[in-house]
Amino acid sequence: MKKILLLPLSLLLLLLAACSNTTAGRGDKDKLQIVATYSIIADMAENIAGDKAEVYSLVPVGTDPHMYDPLPADTSKVSGADLIFYNGMNLETGKGWFQDLLDVTNKNGAAFALTEAVTPIYLTEKGKESQVDPHAWLDIQNAVKYVSVITEQVIKQDPDNEAYYRSNQEKYVAELNSLDQYAKDAVQQLPEDKRILVTSEGAFKYFSQAYGLESAFIWEINTDSQGTPEQMSRIIGIIEDNSIPALFLETSVNPKTMETVSAETGVPIHSRIFTDSVAKDGEEGDTYLGMMQWNIDKVVEGLSGQ
Ligand SMILES: [Zn+2]
Repeated sequence: MKKILLLPLSLLLLLLAACSNTTAGRGDKDKLQIVATYSIIADMAENIAGDKAEVYSLVPVGTDPHMYDPLPADTSKVSGADLIFYNGMNLETGKGWFQDLLDVTNKNGAAFALTEAVTPIYLTEKGKESQVDPHAWLDIQNAVKYVSVITEQVIKQDPDNEAYYRSNQEKYVAELNSLDQYAKDAVQQLPEDKRILVTSEGAFKYFSQAYGLESAFIWEINTDSQGTPEQMSRIIGIIEDNSIPALFLETSVNPKTMETVSAETGVPIHSRIFTDSVAKDGEEGDTYLGMMQWNIDKVVEGLSGQ
């Protein structure tokens, strides 16, 4: 009995090893294999590549892309990728996780930063003024630039389907432009002294600049220590001095620190909002367009005291 059981098992293991060697992370071989570092870029790539590609996000939904520990499956996907899209501008840098992944798979040549044409905004805290803030995608006009890089690279890989990709780009950019205008109009409805957005991470510089808000934060970027006594007393001072009516909590950070700020100031957390990840599949905000619509509506609603 034992022998009969052992033989098929060892065969099965051999077969599995052989399979994983030959496929090296490739799914459907007829389709372009695209890897994105996080869910927002993956969604943009899906909008352009449609059914001609399989798109895989390294950092899972709801997880912080600044710091990430790649899994063996991620290494395999990067190895088998035709194209790898990342944000760049100081985003995927915590412990060098993404650069290490490219080095170990020898895939530097297949990786493209989507922020090449973006005008950078720098961090503001003392000693960090030379570091770029990575959250450029929160200005929808920058997303249009991301999509342009994606489209050009996808066409280079698959020129036969250029018309299909261009048509997808045209439709998607029209939707992006329309939401961008909606956001600009929505913020204009707020009283001027209520246009201050308080979040945990200082991720809203591009968003605030684009839509006419000021932003304030507990810590400036997720790679910082989060919620030190100095950071806490500074943000509480800003909230009290400006009589801020509502606080916001990002879906991809630990909620504890903002909950403490809310308890100490008596100002409610109006809503969770999206910065570094879309929502879980099937939930509101599970696309880039959806998460931006959600953010704009929740921010305007909270700051207008509704
Ligand atoms: Zn971030």
